[in-house]
Amino acid sequence: SNIFFRPIEKINSVIESYPKGIAGFKRYVEIIDMEPDIQDAKDAVEAHSLKGEIRFENVSFGYEQNRDVLKGVDLAVRAGETVAFVGPSGAGKTTICSLLPRFYDVTGGRITVDGKDIRSLTLKSLRRNIGIVQQDVFLFSGSIRENIAYGDLKATDEQIWEAARRASLEAMIQQLPEGMDTIIGERGVKLSGGQKQRMAIARMFLKNPPILILDEATSALDTETEAAIQQSLAELSVGRTTLVIAHRLATIKNADRIIVVDESGIAEQGNHRDLIESGGIYSRLHQAQYQHA
Ligand code: ATP
Repeated sequence: SNIFFRPIEKINSVIESYPKGIAGFKRYVEIIDMEPDIQDAKDAVEAHSLKGEIRFENVSFGYEQNRDVLKGVDLAVRAGETVAFVGPSGAGKTTICSLLPRFYDVTGGRITVDGKDIRSLTLKSLRRNIGIVQQDVFLFSGSIRENIAYGDLKATDEQIWEAARRASLEAMIQQLPEGMDTIIGERGVKLSGGQKQRMAIARMFLKNPPILILDEATSALDTETEAAIQQSLAELSVGRTTLVIAHRLATIKNADRIIVVDESGIAEQGNHRDLIESGGIYSRLHQAQYQHA
């Protein structure tokens, strides 16, 4: 399931009234950022640029009282490491990742980034350090330029083109008569699924966060596009701490570490080869998936 659904719901609820242009977008983002239940601590400090070393210390969390989804989760992720979460549907992969940007707060234990409890940082500065690429790419009705800049008024033309180039969008944009100023969305040019994914990737190259959360698509793209997107995502994750919510095992073989989550919490971890050799849950998941391939 898609945890980032909650913020997306908010986006959808204001989408009709969203006016064109960057001023409107700014107001829009303010609406999206409203989080009545999660607030800055009174003495919260700015995060500045984080290295991205993440720790979950004895973390518990439940959406409802007396029903913990996570219980006593311990996890340490090195700065720059790519960690992929796999496991049965409903095990809590998305939940783990959603606690980092504080879509929800832990009910027990704590999460630190670079040794700082994330609740001691301002929400805004914490989220500035985290980029999320998810399957439902949110594009608003506006130009390609505005969609890549995504509300960043300081982004220069050069930076926006650089982001487009790194996401392999350059050629496509150059072919459009209006180029970067082409309007996309409802009343504009419709982008393919793969192009939408690339827009999200371009946004992240521009945002340049030290921490990345990739909520992998469950389906949608054809194999060739899929492989190309995977390549772009691999490039995006270089030098960033990356948490991947994985749905298809083929895409996570190269993760530094694979974490198998089940009802009991973290059941196994290791790299692909180690987990295959140890013959546990991961190796069985892997077998099951490749029998159909
Ligand atoms: P999937 O592979 O299907 O995406 P997942 O491993 O990511 O699953 P989560 O989405 O983290 O699992 O869900 C973990 C548990 O929390 C499930 O029992 C789910 O029903 C529940 N859950 C998830 N989101 C919410 C929510 N917003 N409110 C209440 N319960 C939720």
